[in-house]
Amino acid sequence: MNASASSHTTKVKYSKDLAFHRELKRRVEEYFQQTELPQRDPPQMFRKTAVILSWFAISWVLLVFVASNWWQAGVLSVSLGLAMAGIGFSIQHDGGHGAYSKQQFVNQLMAMSLDLLGGSSYIWKWQHNVIHHSYTNLVGVDHDIDLGILCRFAPQQRHLWFHRFQHIYLWPIYGLLAFNWHFYSDFQILIQGRIGEHRFPRPQGRDLVVFVLGKVMFFSWAFLIPALFHPLWQVVVCYVLTAFIASFVLSIVFQAAHCVQEADFPSLPANSNHVNNSWAMHQVATTVNFARDNRLLTWYVGGLNFQVEHHLFPDVCHIHYPALAPIVESVCSQFGVKYASHPTFLAAINSHARWLRLLGCA
Ligand SMILES: [Zn+2]
Repeated sequence: MNASASSHTTKVKYSKDLAFHRELKRRVEEYFQQTELPQRDPPQMFRKTAVILSWFAISWVLLVFVASNWWQAGVLSVSLGLAMAGIGFSIQHDGGHGAYSKQQFVNQLMAMSLDLLGGSSYIWKWQHNVIHHSYTNLVGVDHDIDLGILCRFAPQQRHLWFHRFQHIYLWPIYGLLAFNWHFYSDFQILIQGRIGEHRFPRPQGRDLVVFVLGKVMFFSWAFLIPALFHPLWQVVVCYVLTAFIASFVLSIVFQAAHCVQEADFPSLPANSNHVNNSWAMHQVATTVNFARDNRLLTWYVGGLNFQVEHHLFPDVCHIHYPALAPIVESVCSQFGVKYASHPTFLAAINSHARWLRLLGCA
């Protein structure tokens, strides 16, 4: 989705240098023509969806009805949290981008898995699909790299004395993302009609019904049903562990792709809404891949370790990203565009930690 996707968000324009983007699209279309593979609805996605949803359901059933001691409850809470993040990475994310299926209702259904997890597919569509994907790492505009005074993710953001400890105190804060959705941010965004500086239309009709039903379903499976069988404090402890694991995993995968030393953090020139780069070149400059050879990680994070390919082709199913990566990399080298990739997930996390430390000390 490009910057003109919404009249409700900040009007940001990119340079009109389209040769790079045109060549990327031509080479990727050529790949799909040659292989005759469907861009969406690949059979492995249906299998993968069944596996991850079963993982989630089995973890929950065992946790609520079978676990009989603290360590079983602990292991199953971690399993449930990992399954929740897996749903976000591989099912909801593709659905939300329209990359899962040719059928729009299938995409919407998959996107709604976020409502089941206690988030909001409607707010996510604006926050991620429109704002983050249109204005990636654009300081002052991309809401995902702005946690207020809490930390400094970009050199242009204000430095405060306690940021020198941000490479230490931010890690547990990454585990609070889902608590924020469940109890605060979704409701606050809905009431204010704003995501940061960006206005967006409040959900109405079916969107509002999905928002409300999603919250009701989430609070039912997370608190109400377990509380019928267990003391409330035990339910709360398991919820905290589950939500922390899901949030932490979701957050660090995002940070490893955008908030690292190798990514650019451009800002708009003073009194201008014109980015001094083309949209496609901006996406490549602000995004970094990691662990491209790790098949298990690629499966679990829904191809988001191929974040460059995801940002360039968000409506192509993530199953194809590993095959598209060498094509994108070769077009980048043809046009002299830097294509950054970390060999392992750990290398990307180390780069994120170094970046936090660098900005915290400056
Ligand atoms: Zn995305």
